[in-house]
Amino acid sequence: MTYITNIQKYCIHDGAGIRTTVFFKGCLLHCSWCHNPETQNPGREIRYYKDRCTGCGSCIKACQLHAVSMTEEGISVDKTLCRSCGKCEAACRSQALEAVGRAYDVKQLVKKLTSDQIFYEESGGGVTLSGGEVMTIDRDYLRALTESLYNEGISVNIDTCGFCPWERLQEIIPYVDTFLYDLKALDQETHRKYMGVDNTLILENLTKLAASGAKIWLRLPLVKPVNASVSHMEAVARWLTENHVNPAQINLIAYHDYGRDKYRQLGRTYEDSFSPPSDAELADMKQKLIDMGFQNVKIGG
Ligand code: SF4
Ligand code: SF4
Repeated sequence: MTYITNIQKYCIHDGAGIRTTVFFKGCLLHCSWCHNPETQNPGREIRYYKDRCTGCGSCIKACQLHAVSMTEEGISVDKTLCRSCGKCEAACRSQALEAVGRAYDVKQLVKKLTSDQIFYEESGGGVTLSGGEVMTIDRDYLRALTESLYNEGISVNIDTCGFCPWERLQEIIPYVDTFLYDLKALDQETHRKYMGVDNTLILENLTKLAASGAKIWLRLPLVKPVNASVSHMEAVARWLTENHVNPAQINLIAYHDYGRDKYRQLGRTYEDSFSPPSDAELADMKQKLIDMGFQNVKIGG
């Protein structure tokens, strides 16, 4: 089943123009600073909004698997017992519980996305498929979705970390306007430590995508103390040049902690050891990329 956590309208940071961004569930990376943790798990999971909870206990009675209990911190869901049936959500009159993730088939989703076509046309925007990691969703679903939107005349952007078999990217190239391609770290050990996986496939796919002629906006999330440095920008610029990757745009995206509350609501722990680069540091990193031959560098999405 393909689940979506959010269909966000009027986005202006996910490619050109006004866009509708679709956040799919499922990701094979585990970035330590992820601000959308509700998208990491491919299945549905329960999110708890403590400030809405009246303590009535209806959710506890509703769960036949006894996964719900009351603690000093409010409602707790035992993830090892929960099967994401959503009965606790349905029993809660205060909307304090949410079974995150809604299933759409391709037809339903295309219908919903085409309803904003007028905004896309007027602004030069379209639809951005994001997540989580959109390249992990069902292969036939993604191909059908991108092809259908393309046939409707809608610009499709793919926001990806590139950690997928090359064939999956290759087959959707004809339907995609721009790949928003995340590059988090060049150094293998750093990548494994903070993202949980090797970056070999990510770099190989970026090289192949560039060689295919696909339009790429390279997105560099900048997180201290991981990768927000002029020396990292220098290494990225050198790697891009050596591998003949010339993105149409490079975006420097500073770390933020907007996802902090979501971790608590999902019963997880937020890793609190990161910080954003300062404005001056961002300007220095941007200048380094420009000095090394990449003219279209933007700070922000
Ligand atoms: S989703 Fe279903 S199984 Fe999970 S806690 Fe709620 S009622 Fe129990
Ligand atoms: S049903 Fe809703 S309001 Fe009642 S205890 Fe459960 S989460 Fe809180």
